[in-house]
Amino acid sequence: MQKRYRIQVEGIVQGVGFRPFVYALASTYHLGGFVLNNSAGVLIEVEGDQQALTCFLRKLREQPPPHATIQRVICDPLPPRGDGRFAIAASQEGEERDMSIAPDLAVCDACLRELFDPTDRRYRYPFISCTNCGPRFTILRMVPYDRGHTTMAAFPMCWHCEQEYHDPTNRRFHAQTNACARCGPAVRLVKPDGSEVPVRDPVSAAAQLVRAGAILALKGLGGYHLTCNALDEDAILTLRRRKKREEKPFALMAAAIHVIEQFCHLNDQERALLQSPQRPIVLLRKKDHPTVAPSVAPGQNCLGWMLPSTPLHCLLLADTGLPLVMTSGNVSAEPIVYRDEDALQRLGGIADYLLVHDRSIQVRCDDSVVRQCGERELILRRARGYAPRPVLLSRPFRRHTLACGAHLKNTVCLGRDRQAFLSHHIGDLDSYDTLNAFVDTIEQYKALLGIQPSVVAYDLHPDSLSRKYAASLQGVEKIGVQHHHAHIASCMAEYGLEGPVIGVAFDGLGYGPDGTLWGGEFLIADLATYHRAAHFRSVSLAGGERAVREPWRAALSYIADALGTTPSALELPGWQRVDARKAALVEHMLARNVNTFRTSSCGRLFDAVASIVGICHEATFEGQAAMALEAAAWDGIADEYPFAIENTEPWHVDMRPTIEALVREARSGCETGLMAAKFHNTLVSAVVEICLRLRKTEGLRQVCLSGGTWQNIYLLERVVPRLQHHGFTVFVPAQVPPNDGGIALGQAVVANMVSE
Ligand code: ZN
Ligand code: ZN
Ligand code: FE
Repeated sequence: MQKRYRIQVEGIVQGVGFRPFVYALASTYHLGGFVLNNSAGVLIEVEGDQQALTCFLRKLREQPPPHATIQRVICDPLPPRGDGRFAIAASQEGEERDMSIAPDLAVCDACLRELFDPTDRRYRYPFISCTNCGPRFTILRMVPYDRGHTTMAAFPMCWHCEQEYHDPTNRRFHAQTNACARCGPAVRLVKPDGSEVPVRDPVSAAAQLVRAGAILALKGLGGYHLTCNALDEDAILTLRRRKKREEKPFALMAAAIHVIEQFCHLNDQERALLQSPQRPIVLLRKKDHPTVAPSVAPGQNCLGWMLPSTPLHCLLLADTGLPLVMTSGNVSAEPIVYRDEDALQRLGGIADYLLVHDRSIQVRCDDSVVRQCGERELILRRARGYAPRPVLLSRPFRRHTLACGAHLKNTVCLGRDRQAFLSHHIGDLDSYDTLNAFVDTIEQYKALLGIQPSVVAYDLHPDSLSRKYAASLQGVEKIGVQHHHAHIASCMAEYGLEGPVIGVAFDGLGYGPDGTLWGGEFLIADLATYHRAAHFRSVSLAGGERAVREPWRAALSYIADALGTTPSALELPGWQRVDARKAALVEHMLARNVNTFRTSSCGRLFDAVASIVGICHEATFEGQAAMALEAAAWDGIADEYPFAIENTEPWHVDMRPTIEALVREARSGCETGLMAAKFHNTLVSAVVEICLRLRKTEGLRQVCLSGGTWQNIYLLERVVPRLQHHGFTVFVPAQVPPNDGGIALGQAVVANMVSE
């Protein structure tokens, strides 16, 4: 008895070899019909006997291709037509673009073998790919995912490639990025003036130049990289000078895991992360010997390593035989360069040579950054390889929603049905170029996903550019979401929590509705509302933006608050490095309340302590002082400092006793590593103590930890088990960053609850 079914498969099913997989499956069971990409995902019509159809359906659900994620399978019976053959049919373009887009996939092992096989026709071809690997999101102009909708459209396949594409037994059957040296993109080596360097093999020539100390700009998947020899201190100092990047660590790339193992400690999870198809930068603990050049990551106990994700990077790494610095191609604070016309202009002053190619990048996308914490994976920057994979929510969006994110580490989020599409990392919205990138990204996602937002969420900060952007939109409902509520809602959304929960939101600065800047917050939150139950005692800081760049200002404020005196009067060791005249001016400003703001920020408390113990008075990038303090903290210390909790409404966590003790110990020459550890331990106890009190008053057992401070592994590794020991269930963001890169997701789900 013949049966026929119409099967619509939704999820990440395009660009991951799904149609060839369905074709092979249907052939195995001798079924007729067809498969095609439509704008809802993959549509299958399949016909045969019932037993074979049952097996087909089971295998479809249970053993999809490795990079596919099936979210829904809708199966309807149809009258049989007597189809005996199965085919891959042309794509349909529909109205409903209800589909997810595959992230870029790192080059697979099968392609790598061919890349380095002198007998293969794609030997050393830098754009080798197949149905299981290659660029996806960054080359996509529109859905459905077909070659004609990507930047590969400019390269018609040669006869040989075409054969592979149509051969069901070939692993490049229907591989949309299929190409070879004869028909596909090609690399060129150029000088900063745009003239081509005439060489037979541009990659090996570039590798020679890098070995000799040159700085190379390299066109990657989602933008340009700047690269040089990671063992060459002079080259790295030159790169820092030209890029105007003082101390912020550079990422590194190595050809293989064993190279990374020479420099860093690795466990199995970290090895797996490095080798995952996302190929993120993984932060790894440094070994004492041997080391890369000191200027790679001054003052850090971690290095950020990644393995090559494109065949072009694989070739370059193999040809240099060196670990390389691999940092984003930009001048500090600008977004990464991804258009060829910008590359010469903006990178020509930094790079000695440029290794470029003629496949254009459609979507700008940085490298992702992750960190392993025990069994837990923390994503610090979510971009290449992860975006635009959606977060699946338990409660659907009632209307198409756009969330504009935060000012720093901006991402945006578009929501539809149960899917929240958190964008790739855009950057800090304080340059004109980044603001353009922000607007471009919103438009790109809207077009790709077919989302027309009628609800728009933004951060409450009156000066934030994302708020101004939201204000400029017409005919949409606009909803302001408090920064720390968004942090907690983001974590709740990821775990399908409805609340109320205890939300511990610790970060740098976020605008509070009382006009002060918050950042050390204990909220009782559900998705619609929150209540500020407790926070760190607020202090006054002087100097706006500079209060963040210069941790000594925070030290001055916290010491004045705790001791009623100043660090210079106390003769704090190391304080002589702080300009006495500037310090006097700041004291004056604080006394007169000129250009000051009040804040309960946890980040600024870290700044103050880093300066008091003498490890960081000036920061050249966001979070530097906190990172230095974490890096300094000794393991195996159980001691802590005293603190108090004031029974005000909300409760105040009063750290004045901690500051007092720290100042005393710093003056008596106590070791910084010991002081740093004791300070961290004090915070752990404060969090546990407040949560216990809130459980008594509110009866809550679920705790969400969110905000940039929770990138601190020393804290996380101690807070989580202690809370669990007391019977709390603890949630930490895993799919999205705990820092401001995750804010947009929280804004979107809050807006969904409170919109009309
Ligand atoms: Zn492949
Ligand atoms: Zn070809
Ligand atoms: Fe934040």
